[in-house]
Amino acid sequence: MFEDISPRDGSVVAEVARGSADDIDLAVRAARRAFDDGVWALADPRERKRVLLRWASLIDEHSEELAQLESADVGHPITDARNVDVPNARNCIAWYAEAIDKVYGEIAPTGADALALVGREPLGVVGAVIPWNYPLIITAWKLAPALATGNSVVLKPAEQSPLTALALAELAAEAGLPDGVLNVVPGFGEEAGEPLGRHPLVDKITFTGSVDVGRRFLRYAGESNGKAVSLELGGKSPHVVLADVEDLDRAVDAIGWGIFYNAGQTCHAGSRVVVERGLVAPLAERLTQFAREMVPGDPADPSTTLGALVSDEHLEGVLGRVERAAGDGARLLVGGARAEPVAGGAYMEATVLEALDPADPIVQEEVFGPVLAIQQADDAEHAIALANGTGYGLAAAVWSSNITTAHRVARRLRAGTVWINTFDASSLATPFGGVKDSGHGRDRSLHALDAYTHLKTTWVAL
Ligand code: NAP
Ligand code: MG
Repeated sequence: MFEDISPRDGSVVAEVARGSADDIDLAVRAARRAFDDGVWALADPRERKRVLLRWASLIDEHSEELAQLESADVGHPITDARNVDVPNARNCIAWYAEAIDKVYGEIAPTGADALALVGREPLGVVGAVIPWNYPLIITAWKLAPALATGNSVVLKPAEQSPLTALALAELAAEAGLPDGVLNVVPGFGEEAGEPLGRHPLVDKITFTGSVDVGRRFLRYAGESNGKAVSLELGGKSPHVVLADVEDLDRAVDAIGWGIFYNAGQTCHAGSRVVVERGLVAPLAERLTQFAREMVPGDPADPSTTLGALVSDEHLEGVLGRVERAAGDGARLLVGGARAEPVAGGAYMEATVLEALDPADPIVQEEVFGPVLAIQQADDAEHAIALANGTGYGLAAAVWSSNITTAHRVARRLRAGTVWINTFDASSLATPFGGVKDSGHGRDRSLHALDAYTHLKTTWVAL
């Protein structure tokens, strides 16, 4: 067992089973059996749809419980857990349920003496390894398409945030998902994650987390059975703010929420602002004001917008990065310190700084906290170079009132998503993922079905 600590106040919220390699092996074998039986994989898609929709409605029925668990486990403000985390997870499951009986195969062009069918088939056993920042949402992004397409899944949540994945699995069983099709094994990365990554009966790993661990999964696959791996890794997403931005206040609002929502612990958080020189002062002033108004509060209080960071250890790391940035010559404009709205919790002030050297770690490395770095650009061309000047490529935004300029810049930003005059707008219908160090593979949309199926050709002689 291990203790699951709430970052709200440092208290122990649960004792959680500490999954071992043996537990992973049991879970994988159960998943394999269920898959080979065909009880789920070969079911009529309308049947899978029925079960998944029933699961979605059970999530609705238990929405308050799930929101409370998520908030206590990772420190999300309860209002966000209620309005964003739970409904997004639920909607994702319902979306793939609704889609799965409407996806057709193909007939390939052939001569008159043949019929060549191209259809999707599930891969088999999928191992899903999840980070702590959005446990409900990312779990749903993996489970919904993997299960809708007929796979069996073994899921390992992050050690900091196992509670809602376990609750979701209980509800899935209640919804009628057959035994063995979904298995959740909580535990630590080295003890449960690695054996899953190396298991010879796992056909696919879908991973969201850090670059370092993502690359380990490629290694595990290469050294075991060559299983498929998709990786959704971190980001250092830039806003490019051009001098002809139409509405600076609107940009400030989007930039502020884009970094301080979930205390900056978002893979695509807009953690950099690359701004044309003439606008630096007014933009920095407004962002500083925005950060001042973003006061850390008790996640259990419905009026809180900036909750806790996931753990004290993570908070210490974020504070250390800000301190090092100041040592590197960055100008701290606001924040930078620990806060204590609830005794014993892991809180930090919303922080804005101006970075002077694009090579500084505060510009190059993911902070995963409420820390925004402003970078000055000479012109649009320089802004593009600065925006693309990190190893990451998850998301970016352009702010300009000129539609031609905005599209020209957007086209040259290397990222899986580029927003124009907005930030963090998305839907289940749009794919999400990255390029470069941010990984490969896409969650959400019908394209995610590609990650959990292979194309089978059946050639018939006529
Ligand atoms: P992490 O340390 O990479 O952990 C992710 C998962 O991998 C956890 O379940 C973790 O287990 C497991 N793990 C850790 N070490 C492992 C190992 N040696 N072998 C196998 N599994 C291992 O990432 P995190 O700290 O949870 O999350 C933050 C990171 O995720 C950030 O870099 C963020 O940008 C990224 N992220 C990316 C996206 C995206 O879609 N691109 C979305 C969200 C987050 P334990 O925690 O139990 O050790
Ligand atoms: Mg926790």
